[in-house]
Amino acid sequence: MPTLKDTYPLYLNNKAQQPNTDLAVTDKFTGEVAFRTALASPEIIDEAIAGAVRAAEPMAQLASYERQAVLQHCVERFTERFDELAYALCVEAGKPIKDSEGEVTRLIDTFRIAAEESVRMYGEVMPLDISARARGYQSIWKRYPIGPCSFISPFNFPLNLAAHKIAPAIAVGCPFVMKPASKTPLGAIIMGEVLAETDLPEGAFSILPASRDGADLFTVDERLKLLSFTGSPAVGWDLKARCGKKKVVLELGGNAAVVVDHDADLDDALERIIFGAFYQSGQSCIGVQRIIVHEDVYDRFRDMLVAKTKTLVAGDPKDRDTFIGPMISEGEASRLKGWIDEAVAGGATLLTGGGCKGNMLEATLLEGVDKDAKALNEEAFGPLAILQKFADFDEALAEVNRSTFGLQAGIFTRDLFKMFDAWDRLEVGGVVINDVPSYRVDNMPYGGVKDSGLGREGIKFAMEDMTEIRNLVIRRG
Ligand code: NAD
Repeated sequence: MPTLKDTYPLYLNNKAQQPNTDLAVTDKFTGEVAFRTALASPEIIDEAIAGAVRAAEPMAQLASYERQAVLQHCVERFTERFDELAYALCVEAGKPIKDSEGEVTRLIDTFRIAAEESVRMYGEVMPLDISARARGYQSIWKRYPIGPCSFISPFNFPLNLAAHKIAPAIAVGCPFVMKPASKTPLGAIIMGEVLAETDLPEGAFSILPASRDGADLFTVDERLKLLSFTGSPAVGWDLKARCGKKKVVLELGGNAAVVVDHDADLDDALERIIFGAFYQSGQSCIGVQRIIVHEDVYDRFRDMLVAKTKTLVAGDPKDRDTFIGPMISEGEASRLKGWIDEAVAGGATLLTGGGCKGNMLEATLLEGVDKDAKALNEEAFGPLAILQKFADFDEALAEVNRSTFGLQAGIFTRDLFKMFDAWDRLEVGGVVINDVPSYRVDNMPYGGVKDSGLGREGIKFAMEDMTEIRNLVIRRG
């Protein structure tokens, strides 16, 4: 079993610094302090932003093979440090070890994709002679890095969601300052340790856990040209309103739905939906919260779901048999427990689960939940899924769209017409056919509409956001 150090530094302008150790991070299962690290002061963050401004030109000058070499180095080092990274996630996030290993595998994928894309920043040649006045003119456009970027990441995927910002930034040549979540800073800190082994220009990166006061600079400082934020809708939309002139990408939350039509393969759907609803205790922005099932198969599928949910092993995330680990905090578990109790008081039936001890909330299934209940309409972000019944496919699509959120939706159907209908009519960033909304591969476009955010990640889409098109117009003399 790997071990963690007692203290970890932050990374300021590419270098490890240990200004203090005022951030104690707990093991989310035992509640004990697992390690300490530093919280960056506003002065340190200011120094990092100044460093990023100085690094903008040398970063932009890097050749694509040099950027690619940095990303390949990361792929190699993360592969060598696989077990240590997985263990770090397991401890700091309470993420079951198998899910932690899954995240490290995705981290490596994300950097590998970025290494490939870093040599493919193409532009275009366009003839402009669309009318007589432009005879003899043509345009060539290409992409230039946008400049210093500000990144803020959430607690639930400490490595891979930081990687979805860091890897494309390196791929295009943007310096950045990153603030990882204070509950789970270690994933990003270890990425800093690996990046510090490369010869990126000084100031190319800073990785700075910060208190809420200090963190404000990540939003308001005008020297930063882009804010890429992944986290809760309330925080994300508030930051956007205070961002000034910078470009903003928001990857926010949701209450994702999956539709199970009458012709679906129920055994296959069962396995996938159980995973989508309850992996890492439902703490995923695309975790299945609403299961909308055709009336012809509703009773059978409900019984299958209840029976399977009861078999899920809950406990220590370091144990390989554990499927349900702790939630990130006791406060979060009791918040969701309150919503479950409120739904039941409002007439819902508790099919299984509902118990809560500390930050361990049982995998819970409800049916008959009132249309206005928080449990149905807000983001649960925990191990809760709600069954709903539909008679007509249009009604199912309307129910998916009733949400104020729109990240991804899943549809289990064998009907090609319904597949295209869902794709055209669902108000989401992605529709997944014959799998759960929780399905994501790291090169695909990923992001939300409505309250779920703005813009797309998935390496090449993030690279586009981190660049600006500069056009060259040529007149044949
Ligand atoms: P959060 O909004 O509480 O925090 C996210 C990050 O923002 C953290 O680093 C936090 O320290 C920081 N932060 C909070 N207030 C800030 C402020 N005023 N100024 C600057 N930074 C601030 O979210 P969380 O609890 O860490 O993560 C869970 C949320 O993230 C859920 O809503 C989930 O759906 C969402 N999420 C979205 C995606 C996606 O890709 N769409 C992925 C994962 C998580």
